[in-house]
Amino acid sequence: MFDGTGSTLVAGPQVVIAGRTIASVHGPAGPVPPGASVINLPGLTLMPGLIDTHLHLCFDATGDPIGHLERADDDTLRQQMAEAARRALRAGVTTVRDLGDRGYLALDLRDRDLAGQDEPLPTIVAAGPPITTPGGHCHFLGGAASGQPGLRAAVREHAERGVDVIKVMASGGNVTPGSLAHVSQFDADALRAIVEEAHHQGLPVTVHAHSARSIADATAAGVDGIEHATFMTADGVDAPEALIRAIAAQRIAVGWTVGLDPGQRGTAPPQIASRMAALMANRRRLHESGATLVAGSDAGVSPSKPHDVLPHAPQDLAAAGLSPAEILRAMTSRAAQACGLGHRKGRIAPGFDADIIAIDGNPLDDLAAIRRLRAVYAGGRAIPLPPGSQPRTEVP
Ligand SMILES: [Zn+2]
Repeated sequence: MFDGTGSTLVAGPQVVIAGRTIASVHGPAGPVPPGASVINLPGLTLMPGLIDTHLHLCFDATGDPIGHLERADDDTLRQQMAEAARRALRAGVTTVRDLGDRGYLALDLRDRDLAGQDEPLPTIVAAGPPITTPGGHCHFLGGAASGQPGLRAAVREHAERGVDVIKVMASGGNVTPGSLAHVSQFDADALRAIVEEAHHQGLPVTVHAHSARSIADATAAGVDGIEHATFMTADGVDAPEALIRAIAAQRIAVGWTVGLDPGQRGTAPPQIASRMAALMANRRRLHESGATLVAGSDAGVSPSKPHDVLPHAPQDLAAAGLSPAEILRAMTSRAAQACGLGHRKGRIAPGFDADIIAIDGNPLDDLAAIRRLRAVYAGGRAIPLPPGSQPRTEVP
């Protein structure tokens, strides 16, 4: 068992689940509570369910996610989003953070799952529509606002709707026609107003930031997370050493965009592809500086990003110099902390949610093992997997 925080595997674990929660964790000969059903998973490795810190359930992972949104009414979209969430769950992703929906639909799914009435969904953490500029990146999701009073009002509206996190488009982005990723959308004062209002409401802020300037401004504004963090300028990238040190010192969660469908490698947008070598060098510098790194797939935005793509992230994290244990922590316990769920997700330990996957192999030796999924439990419920991947179940 990889418990979510360690650097080695625990041999022969016995995990006792009561309802949705892990009651206790023992060695091989631990006590079996009377009447408990026993699931034997010989030869498999247990680990916490994976956590995708950045995806979009409302994007359909085609070449035209915006056109898809224009065509889908809310009821249709909500059903498609539920199916996207289930697809992630069937890949062992037991928690997803939706960093941009339309009409707060991801919150509907989050709350419906809590009621336990439907087919299981992963745990959903949701931002609602991202705050952006009029006509700016992802404006079509409905989160445009401007001026400091307008931005503060937008944050308050999100808080009233019950979001878990405020997502801000601090720079332009790649999926919005006319938007330039290397250009900032909000200055430091605007970001500071958003952060101040959000923190006043008890909410963390994570920013979509490609431009080097937007990353500097977001760091100065005291954000809690930075997504993408590509440090783009008009013709390259620029990541000053002092900024990298500040990101690490402030313990900002850096959400790297990782994981590509293996059949779709090499399809990154040209503005990313041309900067890839410099981008990877900066990832290494961030890691070496001790920055808090987590793995967000941005699933949904393109055909290379289906909603179950996160298990393909490890090779991208390894390329930035993370060890296998660091990679597994980035996808479990550290991701849980970044999502505000560090107290109940991302670890196999007493009191934590019973979100557990069983995989074939030792992921510390072979990271591809996380794609050889044999069982998924979400809140203690077994999730049906395709035939052939079911574990043997024995009742004493
Ligand atoms: Zn995104």
